[in-house]
Amino acid sequence: MAARAAARRDPERVLAGGEKRILCVGLVCLDIITVVPAYPAEDTDTSFIAADFQHRGVDVTHVAWQPHGDMPCACCIVSAASGSRTIMLYDTNLPDVTARDFERVDLSQYKWIHWEARNAAEQAAMMRRVERHNRARPAAERVHTSVEVEKPREELLPLMGLGHVVFISKDLAQHFGYRSAPEALQGLRGRVQPGATLICAWAEEGADAVGPDGELVHSDAFPPETLVDTLGAGDTFNAAVIFALSAGRSLQDALTFGCQIAGRKCGIQGFDGIV
Ligand code: ADP
Repeated sequence: MAARAAARRDPERVLAGGEKRILCVGLVCLDIITVVPAYPAEDTDTSFIAADFQHRGVDVTHVAWQPHGDMPCACCIVSAASGSRTIMLYDTNLPDVTARDFERVDLSQYKWIHWEARNAAEQAAMMRRVERHNRARPAAERVHTSVEVEKPREELLPLMGLGHVVFISKDLAQHFGYRSAPEALQGLRGRVQPGATLICAWAEEGADAVGPDGELVHSDAFPPETLVDTLGAGDTFNAAVIFALSAGRSLQDALTFGCQIAGRKCGIQGFDGIV
C-alpha cells in the first residue's frame, strides 16, 4: 500500500517488485444520467409536441412538417439554489422553415407575425413578402412584424433592419460590448428601420426600449418571492410584449406587462400557472 501511495505521488516511480502500471490516454467526461420509465418510441417526441400545442390552443396548421431530419432536443439543468439554467442542446439536422413554406400562409389572416432569427436569408425574404403585402393595404389591415435576434451571429443582424419591433438579447448586446440595456439601445438603434421599436431585456434589471418616435422607456423586473426557474423567461417576455402591443397597448404598458409575466414565470417550474 505504501508503495502504491508513493507511486501516486511520483507517477514515474516504478512499483515495488518492478511491476509496471497501466497508462490511459483519453478524455474524462461527467455523465449526467436521466432514468426514465421507458425510452420514447421513434417519432413520439414530435407527436408529444404537437399534442402539447393542441392542448394549449396553438394552431399548427402552418407547421412545415419535414420528411427528413430529427427533432432538436435540449437537456436543461435548472439550479434550485438560484433558478439559473444550463442548456445542453442536441441540435439536429432538421431543416428550417423556408420562404417557400411561408408562401402558403394567407397573410390576411394575421395581425402580427413574429420571427425568431435563424436562417436569415430565407427569413428576410418572408419579411419582405409581408412588407409588399402591407404596401398595398390600408393601415388597419397591415400585418405587424417582429423579430428576435438572440444569438450573436453576424448573418442574423440584417434582420434587425426589417421588423417593426426588434427584440435583442442581453447576450447579443454584451457581444457588441454594451454593459446595459440603455447603452445597447443607444448603440444599436441605427440598425432598425425608421419608425421601428427596439427592445432589450436584461434579466433581473428588467427591460428597456426605444419607440417609433425615439422615446426611451424602461420597466424594472418583477422578481418573484423565490426564484425557481428562469428557463424561457426571455420567450415569455417576448410573448407578453407582443400580446400587449398587438392589443394596442402603449410601449410602456407592454414592457411593464412583459416584465410582470416573465417575473411570474421565474417563480414557477415550467410554464403552467403563469396566468
Ligand atoms: P433570457 O435570458 O431567457 O432570454 P432575460 O434574462 O433577458 O431572458 O429576461 C427576460 C425578462 O425576464 C427580463 O426582462 C425580466 O423581466 C425577466 N427576468 C429574467 N430573469 C429574472 C430574474 N432573475 N428576476 C426577475 N425577473 C427576471
